[in-house]
Amino acid sequence: MIYPERFDVIVIGGGHAGTEACLAAARMGCKTLLLTHNVDTLGQMSCNPAIGGIGKSHLVKEIDALGGAMAMATDRAGIQFRVLNSRKGPAVRATRAQADRALYKSAIRNQLENQPNLSIFQQAADDLIVNGDTVEGVVTQMGLKFMAPTVVLTTGTFLGGKIHIGLENHAGGRAGDPPAQTLAARLRELPLRVDRLKTGTPPRIDAKSVDFSELQEQWGDEPRPVMSARGSRDWHPQQVCCWITHTNERTHDVIRGGLDRSPMYSGVIEGIGPRYCPSIEDKIHRFADKSSHQVFIEPEELNTQELYPNGISTSLPFDVQLELVRSIKGFENAHITRPGYAIEYDYFNPQDLNYSLETRAISGLYFAGQINGTTGYEEAGAQGLLAGINAARRARDLDAWCPRRDEAYIGVLVDDLITMGTQEPYRMFTSRAEYRLLLREDNADLRLTEQARAMGLIDDDHWAQFCRQRDGIAQEQERLKTTWVQAGSEAAKALESKIDAPLNREYSLFELLKRPQLNYPDVAGLKGEPVTDERVALQVEIDAKYSGYIDRQQDEINRLRAHEQTLIPTEFDFDKVEGLSNEVKQKLSAARPETLARASRIPGVTPAAVSLLLIHLKKRG
Ligand code: FAD
Repeated sequence: MIYPERFDVIVIGGGHAGTEACLAAARMGCKTLLLTHNVDTLGQMSCNPAIGGIGKSHLVKEIDALGGAMAMATDRAGIQFRVLNSRKGPAVRATRAQADRALYKSAIRNQLENQPNLSIFQQAADDLIVNGDTVEGVVTQMGLKFMAPTVVLTTGTFLGGKIHIGLENHAGGRAGDPPAQTLAARLRELPLRVDRLKTGTPPRIDAKSVDFSELQEQWGDEPRPVMSARGSRDWHPQQVCCWITHTNERTHDVIRGGLDRSPMYSGVIEGIGPRYCPSIEDKIHRFADKSSHQVFIEPEELNTQELYPNGISTSLPFDVQLELVRSIKGFENAHITRPGYAIEYDYFNPQDLNYSLETRAISGLYFAGQINGTTGYEEAGAQGLLAGINAARRARDLDAWCPRRDEAYIGVLVDDLITMGTQEPYRMFTSRAEYRLLLREDNADLRLTEQARAMGLIDDDHWAQFCRQRDGIAQEQERLKTTWVQAGSEAAKALESKIDAPLNREYSLFELLKRPQLNYPDVAGLKGEPVTDERVALQVEIDAKYSGYIDRQQDEINRLRAHEQTLIPTEFDFDKVEGLSNEVKQKLSAARPETLARASRIPGVTPAAVSLLLIHLKKRG
């Protein structure tokens, strides 16, 4: 049967990529269908119930700035909030929240069910309807056909999913969920490069069986950070404590003793795992000289007893898992509620995608999330949002949209994937962005919300709130720049003790705020009324303190953009360019790009390398 209504966009998969994709398309006014295995697992966190972290919260806040769901759901579900890198500069500062798994799912489901233009249907997608090289719809497990000119595939770890515990393995999408085998087989018939990756998760522990008396407590930060620019601390549910314990020599002996039955070390698993989230057996192997590793013990939900021991992801046999867990302080009598496991799954080479995340081979077919070789909810959500936007734009005959590397981490993520591909699960870090100082988590909305509004992603309330803050920042900057403190005045005396130096001329409040010893509250109220909106105050302070660096970074971007069409002579010797790595020299020599723009699109040629090339070309005259 063909379903009687036709859709503009069909999204397959209700995980982190799929939910952002269908919400975005529906917000843009497209008639959208979300087709997923199970309505009860919408927004499910397959692994650690935590959102954000270094590099990742930047993505979450960009999703938020584009009207997405993840940050608001985190504010409704976060049971512990922390600011990471709080002593470092604003570029690398990050927000992380431990979330209540059930509250998070319910917040996402609530947004989905209340979204106009969006229909949800529970059923596995088994086949794609492809006519020539164009997608036309989807066929479900029971043979029902849904028709649409665009389909976004966000199937996570489910394609050809194989779960490993020790030398035992079985087909599965993640523990408790079926894999997507028929769809995986169908996709392998399409002209797309496919390979295998793997990831893993730790055993979960029953809190009743843990001895907390000797464990180190870890509370969240106060004042609590808020994830969404539209969120509020008042939304946060009860806040709870996490704990820290450690592995020890005995734990490591137990693990070494079980390696012959490890699917990873006995060669049963072929896929490569996440480098930055390694299993405990990987850590023991790679850092053989370390006698201990930290384990963060994090509650899974407010109303359940399950704990997530962050740091001991494993696919060792269950008897080894139990022994290794019980060798850890506090876990001597621990009961495992769910064994840890590894999962292998199909992923597609993202180099076969356009910047819109549309596949090059099949028009109208988009891929987003773990299917593109990434790992993490945030990376998935960001891609889902972008694919949803572009599927909606295609359905409307509009050009694709993708932010540039200097505009958003989403741009960095997509550019990295498309130009370089990935051989291991890709996760975001601030170090991947050349223009970190511009791409801060605190200014995501200032970078993106105006574009999002123009694309129809932002409703009137969100827009009005954004405009209030944007205008508030501009007004406060103007006030600080035009309010003066005279030498010898009471205000000047109050500041001199803080900066340990006399103020011997007239200064504007803005100039004073540039001083490292002074913060917004120190100067803003010296004359006139300081603002009460924390976000406005923070932006004004960061802008004052870092404007020199920010301007320099902006100049560099403008300069590179202005020189994109600079010609590179055919006989140009790339080996002579000082500062380029041998790898980049080889790539450039092999590709022989004709312009700087072309050079910048060669996989692995970074903007920093293009900058060096430009300097060299200019010197050459
Ligand atoms: P998912 O969240 O997996 O969602 C996929 C959705 O698609 C599901 O709702 C599924 O039911 C649905 N679906 C699949 N096939 C079909 C079909 N044919 N028809 C209909 N619906 C379908 N990330 C980290 O950052 N660090 C980690 O250490 C980590 N460990 C992990 C360990 C395990 C065991 C697993 C399973 C995941 C782990 N992850 C980890 C990854 C993290 O869960 C994913 O990155 C993230 O969930 C990807 O989001 P997604 O939307 O792409 O896919």
